[in-house]
Amino acid sequence: MERVLVTGAGGFIGHHLVTYLKERGYWVRGVDLKHPEYTDVDADEFEILDLRRWDDCLRATRNVDHVYALAADMGGMGFISANHALILHNNALINLHTLEAARIHGVSRYLYSSSACIYPEHLQTEADVKPLKEEDAYPANPQDAYGWEKLVTEKLCEYYASDYGMETRTVRFHNIFGPYGTYDGGREKAPAAMCRKVAAAEPGGTIDIWGDGEQTRSFCHVDDCVEGIYRLMQSDYRDPLNLGREEMVTINELAQMVVDVSGKSDISFNHIDGPMGVRGRNSDNSRLREVLGWEPQISLEEGLVPTYRWIEKQVRNS
Ligand code: NAD
Repeated sequence: MERVLVTGAGGFIGHHLVTYLKERGYWVRGVDLKHPEYTDVDADEFEILDLRRWDDCLRATRNVDHVYALAADMGGMGFISANHALILHNNALINLHTLEAARIHGVSRYLYSSSACIYPEHLQTEADVKPLKEEDAYPANPQDAYGWEKLVTEKLCEYYASDYGMETRTVRFHNIFGPYGTYDGGREKAPAAMCRKVAAAEPGGTIDIWGDGEQTRSFCHVDDCVEGIYRLMQSDYRDPLNLGREEMVTINELAQMVVDVSGKSDISFNHIDGPMGVRGRNSDNSRLREVLGWEPQISLEEGLVPTYRWIEKQVRNS
């Protein structure tokens, strides 16, 4: 039985990945600063460790064949745009230490979770943006420290592969959403925030949207995300790869879809000042299709149904 480590297993994508790997017969160790907040632990072993610490990284990576490195100090635009130093400091420590500890323990495959936030700001100034291809990453100019750190760790994985022969995989997620993720507290991302606001709104009420709502994004359901992660890990493809959907919507359209799912037809939008991130972003999946012979299948409309239902339940019970 293959033994794998999932870091960030107490987080949104990490805990979905643990469940997915368990269903496929892997022995799984999960590591995080916290247990999953909304579900039980599916991992065979779950350790509370701080991966900024070298000794904790050595402990986390012992006796495993593969590592899925998902731990990060992160959140939505509100968090990312207000905590540059903290994010760069914490995530650099986590990734420098986890990768080196994995090398020392002879881990054969290592998947790093990067982000669409690595792409240069100057390619994302229009709402009607050209979808981003993997090679658009350079010359580098990410908007935030979060993206700079991801880019440095992408390079680190590349050098661990060339210098030490380690099989590294790098995936660039584009806005992952779904149930059992952070939906309040300041780290939530746009789809979860919209679901929470609509769920809490009275009939005939309003919800706040940051900016004019005409900024664009594509969103990928977490079930497709874990499937893509797994397929990439099994593949022999070594360069960074987009993992997202090509279906781009404005934030106003996203909000309207959530309203439609909720059945609260009379909710209106109140546009307020707030961090918006880049003006437009979409994934170009050409390489993804070519390399994996697959791409995410779940549409935003379809994926919002279980996401909204779950968040609505949390809001009702809070
Ligand atoms: P998340 O915040 O839900 O999960 C990250 C987990 O890492 C959290 O549970 C957190 O407690 C843990 N963590 C933070 N610092 C740690 C430390 N010092 N030691 C151990 N654990 C620590 O986020 P997520 O959405 O599940 O994201 C997973 C990965 O995917 C992250 O690397 C993130 O940057 C990347 N990513 C996510 C998205 C997205 O849309 N969700 C997009 C691009 C990239």
